[in-house]
Amino acid sequence: MFKKFRKKSPWILHYNAGSCNGCDIEILACLSPKYDLERFGVINTGNPKQSDIFLVTGPVTMRSRERLVELYTQMPEPKVVIAVGSCTCTGGVFRDMYNVEDGIDRYIPVDVYIPGCAASPELIIDGVVKALDILEKKTKEREKPFRLFKDFTLKDGIVSRRESALRIGDDDAKD
Ligand code: SF4
Repeated sequence: MFKKFRKKSPWILHYNAGSCNGCDIEILACLSPKYDLERFGVINTGNPKQSDIFLVTGPVTMRSRERLVELYTQMPEPKVVIAVGSCTCTGGVFRDMYNVEDGIDRYIPVDVYIPGCAASPELIIDGVVKALDILEKKTKEREKPFRLFKDFTLKDGIVSRRESALRIGDDDAKD
């Protein structure tokens, strides 16, 4: 029952992990009246604790990887991750740069990959619709980042997500 409703009004968290802003502008275009992404019930919000869809642009940079993992762990389950743009999927034009660690799936599980430099609004809309189908099928089972992470701890019976993200310099970051 709740699964059905969840699909009707998911909230999006948009995060720029190090992009050139090209894909971010396409995401804004999707929200404009011309493409009207909100007709699918989604709304762009800045709060990870109330978001269902993590929309990420840009590759993982040395500066953004901590925030990426922290935001991901703060989102409640079920959640879906969409990698928007070639550099988010694989590193793209930034691949092998000294301060870049390629695609975001080195750190967090990705459900939908949207290629393109920049990803077109049509592809982004297709990706979000695909993500809604995946979100509907997901359970509340906890999904964890691959790196910069230690297991969820309990504080007064509540999952402490903030403390689950490791700091740069911890052993897992060197993998
Ligand atoms: S995929 Fe291309 S346009 Fe999009 S953020 Fe990366 S470099 Fe910029």
